[in-house]
Amino acid sequence: MKIDWDRRTCARKGHVTYAPDDPRLRVRLHAQTALGDVWRCLRCGDFALGEPHGSGPASEAPLVPRGKVLRDLFILRFLAIERAVRGVFIVLVAAAVWRFSNSQDAVRRLFDEYLDVLRPVFRHFHYDLDHSPVVGTIQKTFGYKHSTLLIVAGLLLAYALIEIIEAVGLWYAKRWAEYLTVVATAAFLPLEIYELTEHVSWLKIATLVLNILAVLYIALAKRLFGLRGGHRAFEAERQSASLLEVEESAGVMV
Ligand SMILES: [Zn+2]
Repeated sequence: MKIDWDRRTCARKGHVTYAPDDPRLRVRLHAQTALGDVWRCLRCGDFALGEPHGSGPASEAPLVPRGKVLRDLFILRFLAIERAVRGVFIVLVAAAVWRFSNSQDAVRRLFDEYLDVLRPVFRHFHYDLDHSPVVGTIQKTFGYKHSTLLIVAGLLLAYALIEIIEAVGLWYAKRWAEYLTVVATAAFLPLEIYELTEHVSWLKIATLVLNILAVLYIALAKRLFGLRGGHRAFEAERQSASLLEVEESAGVMV
């Protein structure tokens, strides 16, 4: 299935029309109908009824993202949301670790009390709480030093901050955010692979695959690090995709 990003965006945000001063271009974007003047939308190319949203020299027309450029924006926004959600989740985990580090003894006492209450109940069902791996893991965390927990909370917070900065920058399609995402995501890939050798889970595999695809996609589609012609080629592609640009070159040919 091919998604028409241009029309979908116009359906949501409305058309973008512009009346260029150059009459040769003007005639290509404008028509008169029984209902009144219609102008061609710079994004989807459909004719829209009513006055143009702007007018002036063709060079000052708004650069409306369309086609492949628009699709890339959608994908970046998806990645932005994914990173924002992950960032907020990790902030919550960091906050939980920090709170736990401050009330470790109180939590441990509470846990032991619960364990005392539950032990006979579980024993009734032939379940030995004292040799349960889950209980063992929880008890082990009580043994962590206060300073260790603070470092863990700090590292988590730093990681979450990077994710959130990436999210904001990607949402606004900032080039620095694309670089940051590629570099930071690639830097964490070895850790993610190491994680998988310790314990395999579908969430970890999905995250790893998504991150590898994100790195490759952003680097290639946005022509980072001079790939595929670099920044200059990227800007040229953005310009040449604009409808007015297309019409202009067509008009010159006639
Ligand atoms: Zn439109």
